[in-house]
Order: sequence, then structure tokens, then C-alpha cells
Amino acid sequence: MIELLGVSLDDIRALMVTNGFPAFRGKQIVDYIYKRHITTFADMTQLPKSLREWLLANCQISLPKVVVRQVAPKGDTQKLLLELGDGSRIETVLMDQDYGLSVCVSSQVGCAMGCVFCASTTNGLLRNLTRAEIVGQVLLFSQLTGQHIHSIVMMGSGEPLKNYDEVVGALRIFHEPAMFGIGYRRMTLSTCGIIDGIRRLADEDMPITLALSLHAPNDVLRKQIMPIGSAYALKDIFDALLYYYNKQQRRITFEYILINHCNASLKEAHQLGQLVKVIPNCHINLIPINGNEHIHMVKPSVAVMNQFKAIVESYGVPVTIRKEMGDAIKAACGQLKMQVGSHKESIEK
Ligand code: SAH
Repeated sequence: MIELLGVSLDDIRALMVTNGFPAFRGKQIVDYIYKRHITTFADMTQLPKSLREWLLANCQISLPKVVVRQVAPKGDTQKLLLELGDGSRIETVLMDQDYGLSVCVSSQVGCAMGCVFCASTTNGLLRNLTRAEIVGQVLLFSQLTGQHIHSIVMMGSGEPLKNYDEVVGALRIFHEPAMFGIGYRRMTLSTCGIIDGIRRLADEDMPITLALSLHAPNDVLRKQIMPIGSAYALKDIFDALLYYYNKQQRRITFEYILINHCNASLKEAHQLGQLVKVIPNCHINLIPINGNEHIHMVKPSVAVMNQFKAIVESYGVPVTIRKEMGDAIKAACGQLKMQVGSHKESIEK
């Protein structure tokens, strides 16, 4: 079976022609899927019967299955637990921001990076997601809301730069005007700092925002909380970030989780300011840590966070403390997990 989800408009047109149908049918199919969110061939009633029959016999549109849909009490965040074709499960989050709908997309089932503060990595990595599975997460939310998706953050479970080709391919589908039509400037990819991936991304014609999960202002501490810190030194990561900035002219964002008694002292605030000020026009997002049943780390007091922020700002770097969304349904940063096995969940509203 040929999977149509995640295939470009040009390739669907070519598929039509190879199989004896006019190229414009390709655009009609793409409109059905991405503009009208119709994903069953039988419902594509404006296509001739012969084409519908051919599609049924030869093609598929495999949307992940929604196992649980949870909506936060405030209504601003929704989380889907999705089941994929092989039975593995991932989570995807929709955030209703002031500027529009934003989807937090997963790139892998689980994660191999082993960051001590993050739930996505608790059971290791199962596998990479395919392009269709990445695109399917966003298409599901388009279907469920009937609304245009404003922005994409590649910040769900997994390390996107460890699944480079499928992730970049999916970003092109998100961008394609005939499909999701989301500008690259409305996409953010977050990485723990995979240097060759950052450099490759810098060479793409794809001006997305790059976010680095920094979380420590020196290599010694970073290695303690992020195993990837042993593979790549901060100096080399920053060289790659500068390369990205110079090639794409896009602002680099740093994510820094604040963990009490770990990385949130005033000394670390000064180190952080010193470290990041070498990147022009950058921005820091401070994230009060979200705990869970495995992670018994806590955020500092509001006073300490504000003081930390003020010190970093004194180095001339803009800082925001990230708005906390989704904690009530375990949909906040670092809380997304892969789930295996259990079929006892029901649809919660
Ligand atoms: N692997 C990529 C993509 C995941 S993004 C990366 O590391 O960037 C998920 C974001 O949530 C990252 O910035 C991550 O560091 C952050 N995060 C992880 N655990 C968290 C936690 N317990 N509380 C708050 N943020 C967390």
C-alpha cells in the first residue's frame, strides 16, 4: 500500500500520472486531506469512481488512532494519546495561545537522550516516527478543531535531530501552501544539541526557529543532568549555533529549566548570562521544572526565579519565564511519555 500522508503535492501528482490519472487529481486529493480534513477515500465524492476504487486498492492514509483525549480544566491545552500502526503510543499536545493554535509534535517513540529531568526518556527509545506519523499528529488536531493550525513546535517526545530526514520532510509538508500552509517562521525545533544536525539544518532553505535545550551554564553540570553533554562540549554547540544564526538569520532561543538546588543559583545565573551573550539577538526561556512520578525535582520559589531572570537580563539578553500550560493533564514540557500495552484508558473529557 502506498502511504499518502506526508507525501508532497508534486509526488502525489506524479503518482496520478504514472497510474493513468490526470495530474490535477493530485491537487484534489491534497485538498480533501489537508483543507477539508477528509481522510477516507469513499468520502472523496468529487473524485471519479474509478479513481476512488484505485485509491482504495492501492493507497492508504494512516492517521494515528486517538486512544485518550484529555482537555485541561482551563480549556487552553489538550493532549492526545495516540496509537500508531504497530501498536506503539505517543502523545501530542495542542495549545490555544493568544496568537492561535500551536501543536507540540513528537518526533520519536520514547527518547534515547536520558536527560534526568524528562519523562519522555524514562523507558528509552523504541523507534523513530515516520513522516506520515509526524504529519498525522497535526492533521488530527486540524480535524478535531476544524481550525487552522498557526504554529508548530517540535518539542514533544524524542530528539528531532536524531530523526532528521523524517522531521525535515514533515516540516516541508507543514509549510507547503497546498497542505498546512504554516510559515517556517512559525515553526520551532528544539534540540538537546546534536551538532551535525544543527549544521545540516543551517544549510536547508528552511528559516525555522532553533531552540537549544541548554539547562546548565557549564559542561560539568550539563553532563550531570544531560548525558549528551558528554558527547558535545558547549563550546562546539555554540559554534554550530552561530553558524545557524549566520546562515538563517533567525533568532536562537535557549531553554533553561529551573531546578531548585541544581542549576538555579545566582552564580549559575551569571554564568548563563556570560555564556549566551555571544549569540547575537538570542532569547532565553526559563522553564520552572515540571515534576512527575519519576522526577522528584522541584522549581525554585518565584522570588528566586525572578532574581535569576534579572541577573541574566543584566547581560543584555532578553528573558521570559515560560507560561505554564498543561500541567493539570501532564501535558507540560518534559511530561510526555510513550505508553505501551495498557488498553484500559477511555476517552476523558
Ligand atoms: N529532545 C529535544 C526535544 C524535546 S523538547 C530537546 O531536548 O530539546 C522538550 C523541552 O522540554 C526541552 O526543552 C526539555 O528540556 C524540556 N523539559 C524536559 N523535561 C522537563 C521538565 N521536567 N520540566 C520542564 N521542561 C522540561
